[in-house]
Amino acid sequence: ARRAAGEHPGRLPQLLRQAQAHTGALPPLALPAGLHEAPPYLPAPSQPKPGWQCGLGLLVAAPLGRVAASALARLARSGITGLRLTPWRMLLVDGLAPQGMPGAGLTDHDHWICDAQDARLRVSACSGAPGCRQALAPTQDLALALAPHVPEGAHLHVSGCSKGCARQLPATVTLVAQAGGDGPVYGRGRHATAQAVPDSRWSARSLRDNPGLLFEEM
Ligand code: SF4
Repeated sequence: ARRAAGEHPGRLPQLLRQAQAHTGALPPLALPAGLHEAPPYLPAPSQPKPGWQCGLGLLVAAPLGRVAASALARLARSGITGLRLTPWRMLLVDGLAPQGMPGAGLTDHDHWICDAQDARLRVSACSGAPGCRQALAPTQDLALALAPHVPEGAHLHVSGCSKGCARQLPATVTLVAQAGGDGPVYGRGRHATAQAVPDSRWSARSLRDNPGLLFEEM
């Protein structure tokens, strides 16, 4: 009856009226339980993912954004009509039919990511040791080993030192190699870049043995 009379008895209109009356700003409404604000540095839901793009071709990624020259050469010589670099650290393959994927090497899991659900899309790493002289520990094998334990919607970055060459944005968890008394350790930063002061330090063994602990309480 109140709605029929033109009134708005709901709680939200009441809150809006209060906010306009006092500050002119919208009230900071809490998100429903179980929902969290998406940090702005994570990929937007609208960002393309590996897979067939209607009318365009196949979008493919590579583990940690690195592909062996031999795998790239095999793809280039497979009869495709074009390879395009994209802004999303992926390649768009033109002129390929689904049945041509094995011949082009794209079903080789070690070299390519064609599945949008592949956990390796949720990790990144710099060169690390031994590829970089500044690195205090290896990075890439650790990042790939931890990838299956990174929750969906989160990102793990592993850096060989605090320069953070391979990722200037924060990550949900950033591991940075540091010198330790008994060998290198990895400092953990949460929602931070490689330059941040870590909240805890982990050996490579403890990370591999307890990967689920990395993202606890996040
Ligand atoms: S972040 Fe450090 S270890 Fe990694 S590539 Fe850059 S300088 Fe090397």
